Amino acid sequence: MTSPLLMIPGPIEISDGVRQAAGVAPPSHVAPGFIEDFGRALELMRYVWCAAADSQPFIIAGSGTLAMEMAIYNVVEPGDAAVVVNSGYFSDRMGEMLRRRGVAVTHVRCAPGAVPDLEAVEAAIAAVGPALVCATHVDTSTGVRVDAARIAASAKAHGALSVFDGVCATAAERFEMEAWGADIYLTASQKAVGLPAGLALMVASAAAMARRAALKTPPPMYLDWDSWTPIMRAYEARRPSYFGTPATTLVGALRLGLDEILAADSDPARAMEARFALHQRSADAMRAAWSAMGLSLVPTDARTAANTLSAVRYPKGVDATLPGLIKARGVVVAGGLHPAIKTEYFRVGHMGHVLERPEALERTVEAVGTALNGTGFSVDVGTAKAALWAVLGEEA
Ligand code: PMP
Repeated sequence: MTSPLLMIPGPIEISDGVRQAAGVAPPSHVAPGFIEDFGRALELMRYVWCAAADSQPFIIAGSGTLAMEMAIYNVVEPGDAAVVVNSGYFSDRMGEMLRRRGVAVTHVRCAPGAVPDLEAVEAAIAAVGPALVCATHVDTSTGVRVDAARIAASAKAHGALSVFDGVCATAAERFEMEAWGADIYLTASQKAVGLPAGLALMVASAAAMARRAALKTPPPMYLDWDSWTPIMRAYEARRPSYFGTPATTLVGALRLGLDEILAADSDPARAMEARFALHQRSADAMRAAWSAMGLSLVPTDARTAANTLSAVRYPKGVDATLPGLIKARGVVVAGGLHPAIKTEYFRVGHMGHVLERPEALERTVEAVGTALNGTGFSVDVGTAKAALWAVLGEEA
């Protein structure tokens, strides 16, 4: 039997190249090859993030939650105010981190599956005058994507910094860090970047770095950019340096993974355009298949449905046993996550390397369709697959 296909919204299927790079004997953190990989990975991050030349990338051992905490602790301090554009589960987490940092938090909330109203966001920023505006680019719990360009612009217009949690978006959803004026864009290695879990990744703007320099209450040492910036700068200058041992094997895999992401074109900006377009097309194709099966999505407005995952409602008569039935057909999908609707939907990731193997998307559609037929909710799997291929074939 073929091995199960991992189609959850992270960790994701990884490429053979990344798998090999992640399987080498762990190098020393001062080995010449490692120094080159680390330096190059930092440089490549700026391209994948569409970030400014004077921005600072960080590669830190840890998960996405560490990246969130590091971002927050370096740009706000006790007594500051922040606005959280709250689209679900991970925005709540961001709010709690801010609260623990002693920051006064104003949430702009929405119903599960919706995104906060941008005029309400603008009004909250104008009323609060926050030091920071935070948003989750793609909320993994509901599959919605916020308008990061507009939020970054609103923050900037009011003199606030902006932080975007891109854990379920970076390297897949369009994000033009420099052009949009965003200050921090963070992610974790196990999602669209296409690595095993274990790296917290972020790029900070010059303005965000200046804010750290002005803080009166420094972050804990491991979270502190002041601990890590000299290390990142040294490796980028191809010199080894030490604060805490880097995840050497994963850093090597990261260099390779970023190279693969940018391989589509010799011009990195064009490579990223191709990357964003691939995710858009693949997501449109998956949505066409769900629709052909008569399924509806958690996102209430099709324009805000994320390209990295589908959050799909169980049809009438089908319950949370469905993911188990899909798994029995060789495809692993995830159950619901948002506490208010947890048992009402399932989630299918479609990001990263797997999109270059569209037959994997077909296998997923087939597994979901046949599993549904096993429940008594009848779908035409052939029609769903045809709908998928009709979109995949459009510009391929
Ligand atoms: N933010 C978002 C949007 C996420 O999807 C996740 C993980 N699913 C996190 C933050 C936390 O990342 P990690 O699990 O790597 O700590």
